[in-house]
Amino acid sequence: MPVGTPYKKHRTFEGYDTIIIGSGIGGLTVAALLTKFGDKQVLVLERHYTAGGFTQSFTRPGYEWEVGARYIGQVLRPGSLASRLFYTVTNGEIRWATLGEVYDRVLLGDMTFDFVAGAERLLDAFYQAMPQARGRVEIAELSIPLSTVESTGYPQGGIYGLAHTPARFRDPLLHPQTPIGNLYLTGADISTADVVGAMVGGALTANVSLRINLLKAS
Ligand SMILES: Cc1cc2nc3c(=O)[nH]c(=O)nc-3n(C[C@H](O)[C@H](O)[C@H](O)COP(=O)(O)OP(=O)(O)OC[C@H]3O[C@@H](n4cnc5c(N)ncnc54)[C@H](O)[C@@H]3O)c2cc1C
Repeated sequence: MPVGTPYKKHRTFEGYDTIIIGSGIGGLTVAALLTKFGDKQVLVLERHYTAGGFTQSFTRPGYEWEVGARYIGQVLRPGSLASRLFYTVTNGEIRWATLGEVYDRVLLGDMTFDFVAGAERLLDAFYQAMPQARGRVEIAELSIPLSTVESTGYPQGGIYGLAHTPARFRDPLLHPQTPIGNLYLTGADISTADVVGAMVGGALTANVSLRINLLKAS
């Protein structure tokens, strides 16, 4: 079935070894790994009109927005898990650009605050903008879920999927294998929230399905 075919018009899905429901980066990672290392015929079904889940972007005249992911760390570090995963699933086809020194800019009324790379440097920039805070900071933590709680008011970083609590990681159902034979879970919710976390979820599912360890560093 070619990419973009409306699946409601196709009632039979014969000839596939694996059907993946959802084309987020987790599902696409499983698809790529099963095809590449298992020689499987894989069908990816997506309910949206385009693939990619939270890695999509969309445009309006003069602007382009991401629906989710804006930046991904570690991809330029040779040998990192992120760079190895992307290299494997794309056959080295992706070219990355650095965000540069300033990766986000917040405008608060007349004030501009630049998010600079590196936790210590970010804290320095914060003290420069808010000198009165110097000496009053007890805990500094650079963390996406915590920032999400602060900036969106969603409890426990909810827009990033399941809350990152110890209970979540102990949940026996949040694993690739389910109690239903041949039904597997994947993506960020069986790993951790972010693009690389979802890809790790994809690799874990492919590991279980193919019975090989694709995450092992070579
Ligand atoms: C606002 C926001 C900002 C983010 N920023 C970053 C960032 O800067 N960097 C970063 O690394 N991560 C970021 N993330 C997190 C990251 O984007 C996600 O963790 C990751 O993309 C999740 O991938 P996934 O494959 O697990 O799930 P998803 O991307 O949610 O994919 C699931 C797919 O399944 C489809 N689907 C669901 N149900 C069905 C069904 N019944 N039938 C068919 N299809 C179905 C959905 O339409 C979707 O396409 C951000 C997330 C959000 C929400």
